[in-house]
Amino acid sequence: MTLETVSRYDPTRSFESGDRAAVIGAGMAGLCAARVLADGFTEVTIVERDSLSDKPVTRRGVPQSQHIHVLLEGGRATLEDLFPGFGEELLSAGGVSHDAARDVKFYMEGGFLANGPRRCTVYGATRPLYEQVVREQVAALEGVHFRSNSQFTDYLVTDAATSVTGILVQDEGGETTEITTDLTVDATGRTSRTPRWLDEHGYTRPSVDEVRIDVAYSSTIVERPATDRRGIIVAPSPQRPRGGTFVPVEDGRWVMTLWGMHGDAPPTDPAGFANFAASLPVPDLERMLNDQPWRTDDIAHYPFPSNLRRRYEDLDRFPEGLIVIGDGVASFNPIYGQGMSVAAFEAAQLQHALVADSHTNLAPRFFDRIEETVDLAWNLAVGSDHQFPQTEGPKPRGTDFLNWYLSRFLRKAHTDGELWELFFSVQMMEKPPTALLHPRVVWRVFKP
Ligand SMILES: Cc1cc2nc3c(=O)[nH]c(=O)nc-3n(C[C@H](O)[C@H](O)[C@H](O)COP(=O)(O)OP(=O)(O)OC[C@H]3O[C@@H](n4cnc5c(N)ncnc54)[C@H](O)[C@@H]3O)c2cc1C
Repeated sequence: MTLETVSRYDPTRSFESGDRAAVIGAGMAGLCAARVLADGFTEVTIVERDSLSDKPVTRRGVPQSQHIHVLLEGGRATLEDLFPGFGEELLSAGGVSHDAARDVKFYMEGGFLANGPRRCTVYGATRPLYEQVVREQVAALEGVHFRSNSQFTDYLVTDAATSVTGILVQDEGGETTEITTDLTVDATGRTSRTPRWLDEHGYTRPSVDEVRIDVAYSSTIVERPATDRRGIIVAPSPQRPRGGTFVPVEDGRWVMTLWGMHGDAPPTDPAGFANFAASLPVPDLERMLNDQPWRTDDIAHYPFPSNLRRRYEDLDRFPEGLIVIGDGVASFNPIYGQGMSVAAFEAAQLQHALVADSHTNLAPRFFDRIEETVDLAWNLAVGSDHQFPQTEGPKPRGTDFLNWYLSRFLRKAHTDGELWELFFSVQMMEKPPTALLHPRVVWRVFKP
């Protein structure tokens, strides 16, 4: 599902679900879920094991926050629905607004894509800033409170474990307390322990689709003059499985991330990092490292082994009073920048599932509702990843044909800005991939 077809969050639709909900994890998925729950629960507690600063700083529980985070249009619009004024808040906190058609260069299939005819406004900000702006808006909601420095350790259940009735939480001092709930949302991310818990309590674990890509990120921060809003994306290709990007972010900085697939990991020492940038087919990243002062010699590293999808929608039995959201359901190759947007889309679907029938039998209805969104992001990500012959794992039907077509499409987009614009809107989860196959588009791609 894309922005064009998804049921959007609707603030006029109310529901009454119960007294108390808990969200485990104050990442983007947890925050978006809490926003929706605040409409129908008297009290919403967000349990987070990290301490939460009122500044946009990286934290241990979200190690990916040192790396580039792109917010797709699908996610931007959904966050704006969930948190009216989100964009303005982000900009007033220092976030950057720039035009992807003019300010950002896209290097794909051996050349730069042509500029599209229209403005495509996108935001540039660090992941901690995105999270902080959203967190402040969630904290201002009635009935919501954060319980930081608190580790979720277990679910509380009814005798036959048919319902989750609360959670056990351990504070910094090791003291454990119980929080009773009508609904618990597991937003603990990729390492979610719910599958194991299901197994231990007589349920079937969701089956897992895994597509191995062994991508690694290395990132640093470079000084940026206030008016310079340039950005670039150099996509990896099967012939050269490495690339990189820089985007303008708050506080006069660019975040520069280099990436490599299938073991071609970018180094973490400054000289090695610069050499890796110099090995790319365009000089822009190397030049930036030479021309601009680096804020730090520290280079953050993040290995990401695989796309991972847990098929909760296929389970016959799931306890009442519990759902899983965000990376706990599916986490995608980060190069495509989908995770925050998918989390926001899923929160909007949570609202529709709650409005339809309170929280009774919620999990299967919610998992069914998010399936299409996850499908879309999954197929875009793993479809592209299967361009690489080393990629291992299930291949969606039609992938080889689509990759062949897209290769041709993108080469044509080196000179046809309208094709770039269409491709961009699909990657941004605004339009469905079928838009790329419209007869008018196919003709444009194949015309001599
Ligand atoms: C390197 C990298 C780059 C990425 N780039 C992008 C990008 O460009 N664009 C994009 O949209 N997405 C990107 N993503 C994905 C994005 O970060 C996530 O998909 C998105 O933030 C949703 O994550 P989440 O909230 O489900 O989980 P997480 O962000 O992992 O948050 C989980 C939270 O749960 C807390 N937690 C975990 N266990 C417990 C416990 N037992 N008790 C209490 N709290 C707990 C953690 O501390 C954390 O705060 C990237 C990911 C990676 C790895």
